[in-house]
Amino acid sequence: MKEYSVVLSNVTKIFDDSFTAVDNVSLTIEQGEFFSLLGPSGCGKTTILRMIAGFEDPTFGNITLNGKNIIGTPPNEREVNTVFQNYALFPHLNVFENIAFSLRLRREPEDQVRRKVKEMIELTRLNGHVEKMPSQLSGGQKQRVAIARALVGRPTVLLLDEPLAALDAKLRQHMLVELDTIHDEVGITFIYVTHDQSEAMSISDHVAVMNEGEIIQLGTPFEVYESPVNAFVANFIGETNFFTGNVVKVEDEYFLLDTEKFGEIWFYKDMEVIEGQEIQVSLRPEKVKVTRDMPVAPEGVKLNVLKGVVDETIYLGNQTKYTVAIGQSYLKAFKQHVRYLFDEVIITWKDDVYVWWFADDSYVLRETGGVPVEE
Ligand code: ATP
Repeated sequence: MKEYSVVLSNVTKIFDDSFTAVDNVSLTIEQGEFFSLLGPSGCGKTTILRMIAGFEDPTFGNITLNGKNIIGTPPNEREVNTVFQNYALFPHLNVFENIAFSLRLRREPEDQVRRKVKEMIELTRLNGHVEKMPSQLSGGQKQRVAIARALVGRPTVLLLDEPLAALDAKLRQHMLVELDTIHDEVGITFIYVTHDQSEAMSISDHVAVMNEGEIIQLGTPFEVYESPVNAFVANFIGETNFFTGNVVKVEDEYFLLDTEKFGEIWFYKDMEVIEGQEIQVSLRPEKVKVTRDMPVAPEGVKLNVLKGVVDETIYLGNQTKYTVAIGQSYLKAFKQHVRYLFDEVIITWKDDVYVWWFADDSYVLRETGGVPVEE
């Protein structure tokens, strides 16, 4: 049987009797998993974290930690610790004493304190920095001290509130890998708050995508990317092309959609659809090809081919992002450079091209409406 570390049941938080910051959220986080709350600024991620930590009480609903109701339990009596974005280190204590702080508060014996702090210093690779004051540390080192300090008391859950937001992009990448390693080594539950989809995608076992206080979709990174439930998730987790229209015809595994901007297009029927139904489809740009020559569909394969003109190219080294104008509308196509560039036909701005993709490569959004989307 699976062990559940943190369970939120119908949790709502209303501030000032009027503003609903968290709206009827239910979540089950398994023991030892790396779980991310992902969503735009102000969607309620931090409020959820603060309720788990005990800094806020839910207005309605229930939270359990390892099967025990923790509503009303003060923060210091919960087996939970938090790493904040701004590190919150004690400026007058050196690295060792910052990490040792909670152990000293509990009056643990000196040899035990030394052993536990040393373990954390090894884990977070802070050897050689133990005597330094916070002001003498780099951003990445400060973050490691904050993580070591939060882990030293062996919480059963570690809450991380945008812990890497203050670091530059390269260091963030590096710290993500380190966090992953630390998580594997300590084996406790990590709940990670971020608005950065690539962070959440690269590190999490499960992701809850949030908007306006609600969880819109919960799944593995693969599920939320490949099978977004609606346009909000499809848009928030990466880039995509949307098609909206009414079903004209259903044939075997495919349906023909009369799209508002691109005319009739075949899509894969990954759910039941009926003629006349209004449907919204997401097609990831990396599934769309751009070529000078007209593609030839292999026998039995349904291909959509449109003619257009390259409107914009963004060269990123490992890939090029194309925006292609098709009449008055636009499609995005991302081309990975798997071979050397000189091997490829270079496609540039204003080129006449064919834009094409396999009908199987799209995904029908289960929830339409509610979220305005540019096609
Ligand atoms: P960010 O990524 O910007 O930190 P977030 O998703 O973590 O955003 P929260 O900090 O949970 O969002 O805030 C959710 C909403 O609740 C926001 O609109 C915020 O202004 C509001 N809010 C948070 N705390 C309080 C409070 N103590 N009193 C009133 N409103 C609050």
